[in-house]
Amino acid sequence: MERRLPSFVLKGGRLLDPANGWDGPLDVLVRNGIVEAIEPNGACDGAKVIDVSGLVVTPGLIDVHLHLMKGLGAFGVDPDIFGVGSGVTTVVDAGSAGHSLLNIFRNYVTNNARTRVLNYVNLSTLGGVTGPGYSILADSRLIDEDKIAAAVEANRDIIVGIKIMATGGALGAQGMKPLERARKLGDALKLPLLVHIGESWTKDTAPVHIGDVLRYLRAGDIVTHMFTAHPGGLLDGNGKLWPQVRDAKESGVLMDVGHGLHNLNFDVARKVLDQGLQPDGVSTDGHRGNRLGPVYDLPTTMAKLMALGFSLEQVVEMATLNAARLLGRAHELGSIRMGQPADISVLRLEERDWEAVDSQKGTLRAGRALVPVYAIRGQSIYDPVPDDRP
Ligand SMILES: [Zn+2]
Repeated sequence: MERRLPSFVLKGGRLLDPANGWDGPLDVLVRNGIVEAIEPNGACDGAKVIDVSGLVVTPGLIDVHLHLMKGLGAFGVDPDIFGVGSGVTTVVDAGSAGHSLLNIFRNYVTNNARTRVLNYVNLSTLGGVTGPGYSILADSRLIDEDKIAAAVEANRDIIVGIKIMATGGALGAQGMKPLERARKLGDALKLPLLVHIGESWTKDTAPVHIGDVLRYLRAGDIVTHMFTAHPGGLLDGNGKLWPQVRDAKESGVLMDVGHGLHNLNFDVARKVLDQGLQPDGVSTDGHRGNRLGPVYDLPTTMAKLMALGFSLEQVVEMATLNAARLLGRAHELGSIRMGQPADISVLRLEERDWEAVDSQKGTLRAGRALVPVYAIRGQSIYDPVPDDRP
């Protein structure tokens, strides 16, 4: 539900904004949708008081991997469900649209959403049209660099990178040639690559080795599904990180969670984390098929990382400052800015026992839950949609 308030003050909360180094009792005054003052015991000056005592106020949360073309296949979900309906102000589609669908995406999804919607254009012209079980890169004609470049140039304001499925199933007989072409295209367009790893969909093809994928990646590119238990993941047969993974991380390749129906496994996560490899981003890989479990929303995914040992401060940093950097948008997203339109999330940190469930139905006792309370964009304050959460 949306309320519009010309002026309001978020009063009595804990403001946690890692980009600005703020963590403490600070009130936020918003006038005509613009952040006007941030101070302890802030004056209200006639603004409507929204009592957020006991709550955590953060920069607008950013979910960097979802499937947001509602009506497209089994996956597409309304962006406002995982977005402002889940306490999240920015959501990013990971490759639903190839170049030919990008204008439809813009007109139908981005322009109709209350949440800010950004986009990774799919390297394959097919994008998410067929669903993930098809060989969408296995014919060389399914990549059209000129058309991708034209579509990107016409939509630069919403495009944050190029999505590629680095699986044996998607690549088929083309082998690593699509990676090579993606690399050249990313360099030419100055866009990072978002690379899906993990063979969760096709069982009849040989998995692609992570080392072969990482050879094509550079600083700023993103590997998503870092905690996948499927073939093609970060660990070798003995549960050790492939050495190429460490090298890539050191060279600046970013690692994202991408929970999803298949790709957050607590055992894998523990092994990866125990070996010192940290996630750069946290994301849901949210779609229609995982909204009501195991994923639910970004705050729940953040709470699962807390159950794996991260602090609230760390997961908020991942979902704000780090996510903005990963998208190349740290100049405009990921922090609360004086004089700029309000872009704020309000969360409740609950101290309670609950059972976190991963993509393989593995469980973990969690002592803290993170529940969305509001998403705020400008003058609009959104309540979460009332789906059951764990
Ligand atoms: Zn995905």
